[in-house]
Amino acid sequence: MKHIITLIPGDGTGPEISEATVKVVEATGVDIEWDVNNAGAEVYEKEGNVLPENVLKSLRKNKVGIKGPITTPVGTGFRSVNVAMRKIFNLYACVRPCKSYEGVKSRYSNLDLVIIRENTEDLYAGIEFELNKPETIELIDFIKEKKDIAIKKDSGISIKPISVSASEKIIKYAFEYAKKNGRKKVTGVHKANIMKYSDGLYLETFRRIASQYPEIESEDRIVDNMCMQLVQKPELYDVLVLPNLYGDILSDLAAGLIGGLGVAPGANIGDEIALFEATHGSAPKYKGLNKVNPTALMLSAVLMLRHINETKAADILEKAISSVIKEGKYVTYDLKEDRNDPTAVGTSEMTDAIVRKIKELS
Ligand code: NAD
Repeated sequence: MKHIITLIPGDGTGPEISEATVKVVEATGVDIEWDVNNAGAEVYEKEGNVLPENVLKSLRKNKVGIKGPITTPVGTGFRSVNVAMRKIFNLYACVRPCKSYEGVKSRYSNLDLVIIRENTEDLYAGIEFELNKPETIELIDFIKEKKDIAIKKDSGISIKPISVSASEKIIKYAFEYAKKNGRKKVTGVHKANIMKYSDGLYLETFRRIASQYPEIESEDRIVDNMCMQLVQKPELYDVLVLPNLYGDILSDLAAGLIGGLGVAPGANIGDEIALFEATHGSAPKYKGLNKVNPTALMLSAVLMLRHINETKAADILEKAISSVIKEGKYVTYDLKEDRNDPTAVGTSEMTDAIVRKIKELS
């Protein structure tokens, strides 16, 4: 069956790793037509828009996309394209599998965790009150009047909304994910002991939804304890489901457990549209140098292939990537014991090695 997939190459090193990813996906023999539409800083320079309508139209039509990283220039006034796309398409679930691959330097081995992060609310909702603004002063006065709590006048304020509906959606998603992927346990992460009306609501919702999935073990953890547990005994955990901010922080922590951002894939999922992308950014200092590791975007393509039910192609691609990493010969600098190892290869040589491996495995 032929699939039409939106491809957003991104900028910085994005186009190089996107090209590498297309090459390995095509080597699996899966029938894909790439609908290429770009977004980001380089598009902005040409068209005056970081997220042109053709990108949105293509995703609306194709429902599935894969995207290279996009630079968010500091101080230019435009918000992150990544955050904008999550909002426009209500991509409410950010899924980040963190799996150990032999040959990747890491303090742990045999980890296989999945972090599922709520993507639409919490302190990330962007409800911000700036220092000394009239509305900020008004809010401070309102809180004093209604709650008899004195916030310092020289404060900036960020609001943390957590809703029953968004919590229900992400927690259900996590249990369904566990069911579909043969996972045994879901851990709900929160700080309900302190934030009773936001995280408390999240925890209450977690317990209610968990009771509807008796076949899957469930437990909850306070976020600070969760961090310590992940460092001390990460092997005890399976699927973690978290509100937006904790999810953001813990997904990088979990990526660190398996060897870093270079090997951490990701997916942003909504009811209709799914957008796959690496966890790392555009690494602009390496742009055009044929230097960076394409693994994270390739593993995101593995997730994409599973999403479109191309399981065989996904399995072969994952196996080929992990074999090349394990052999350690044709790998980029960051996968070598010493980052200055002169035998490290470039993005395209590592890609060619993975293509050769796919041919052997097919
Ligand atoms: P980054 O992930 O680009 O780089 C962090 C470090 O990791 C750098 O030392 C970089 O060289 C290295 N690195 C990153 N990817 C690598 C790879 N594939 N192989 C080898 N080394 C790699 O993070 P940053 O420098 O904080 O951000 C750069 C830009 O990317 C910023 O504009 C940021 O906003 C953007 N960004 C985009 C996304 C996205 O598109 N989803 C995510 C994060 C950051």
